[in-house]
Amino acid sequence: MICRLRNWFGVRFGHLDIVWLNVFMLSMIHVAALYGFYLKFLNVNIYTRLFAIFYCHVSGCGVTAGRHRYFSHRSFKGNRAVDILLAMMACTTFEQSIYTWCRDHRLHHKHSETDADPYNSNRGFFFCHVGWILVRKHKDVKEKGKSIDMSDLLDNPVVMFEYKYCLQLALIFTVLIPTLVPWYFWNESLAVTFFYGTVYRFVLILHITWSVNSFAHLYGMRNYDKHINPAENTYVSTISMGEGFHNYHHTFPWDYKAAELSNDFRNFTTFFIDSLAYFGMVTERKTASKQLIGKRIERTGDPGYKSSTSIVKNIFGYLLFVVLLA
Ligand SMILES: [Zn+2]
Ligand SMILES: [Zn+2]
Repeated sequence: MICRLRNWFGVRFGHLDIVWLNVFMLSMIHVAALYGFYLKFLNVNIYTRLFAIFYCHVSGCGVTAGRHRYFSHRSFKGNRAVDILLAMMACTTFEQSIYTWCRDHRLHHKHSETDADPYNSNRGFFFCHVGWILVRKHKDVKEKGKSIDMSDLLDNPVVMFEYKYCLQLALIFTVLIPTLVPWYFWNESLAVTFFYGTVYRFVLILHITWSVNSFAHLYGMRNYDKHINPAENTYVSTISMGEGFHNYHHTFPWDYKAAELSNDFRNFTTFFIDSLAYFGMVTERKTASKQLIGKRIERTGDPGYKSSTSIVKNIFGYLLFVVLLA
C-alpha cells in the first residue's frame, strides 16, 4: 500500500530538492481558489459569471493555441498581430514565460518519459501533474534543455519582450484585468472578482493544463502509437479545449488540430485557430493526411480503432467545462 502511494505521488523525498517557496505559493493560491469556489455559489452577478467564462476561454486558448500549438510547435503560421494577440492571451494565465514554457515543452516531446522530460510521467501521477513544479529540475532536464533549438523564439521580439517583462505582464493580464473589469463596469465586489474571477479561474486553468501531462499521459487508449505513454483521454479533451487527444499529438506533434478530428466541440482550440485563418491572420495550418494517419496506425497503433464523433459526448463535455466555471 505504502509502495503504491509512493509510486502515485512520485515520492522519493530523499532524492528531491524541494523548492519550499513554490510549495508555499501554490498552497496559498489553492486556499484562495477554494474560497473563490465557495463564493461562486453565492450572489455573483450574471455579468461576472459571463465575463469569467469569456476570460477562461481567452486563458485556455492562450495556453492551447498560443503557448502550445503556435509558439512551441509552430503548427501554423501567423503574422505579427497573431504573435501579439496570442502572447497577450498567454499572459492571462501565468505559467512561466512563454520562452521557458516552450523550451520545457519541446524537451517534453524530444525526451518524453525520461529524466530529461520536465514532467516525466514515469515518476508517478503527482509528479507529472504538479510535483515537478515543487522540486528543482532533474540535472538531465537542465543539460538536455541546452540542446533544444529555441532560435525561432529568440528571434521573435514579442516573445523576448514577454520574457523580459513576464511578471509585470502576468500581474496585468492574470490578476488586474479580471479583478478590476467586473468591479469597475458593473460594481461587482472586489472579493468576488479577485477570489472567484481571478484566483479560482487561474487555478482551474492550471489544473486543466497539468491534466494533459498527468491524466492524458497515464489513462486512455493508445490508438496511433501503442509504444508510448501519451493516451487519448476524452475527459481531458473536453475540459482542455482539445488537448487530451494526446497519443495522436505525440505521434503527430506538428498537426495544428492536435487531434485527428477537427469538427469537434472538444477541440475549441481548433475552432479558434480556424477562425483566425478565416480572417487571414493565420496561414499554413499543418495537418496529417488520412493516408499518413492510416499507415501510422497500421505500423504502430491499433488498426481496430475508430475515432469517435459522438455529439452527445461533445455537448456534455463542453457543458462540463462551462459548469465548472460559472
Ligand atoms: Zn505530453
Ligand atoms: Zn505538444
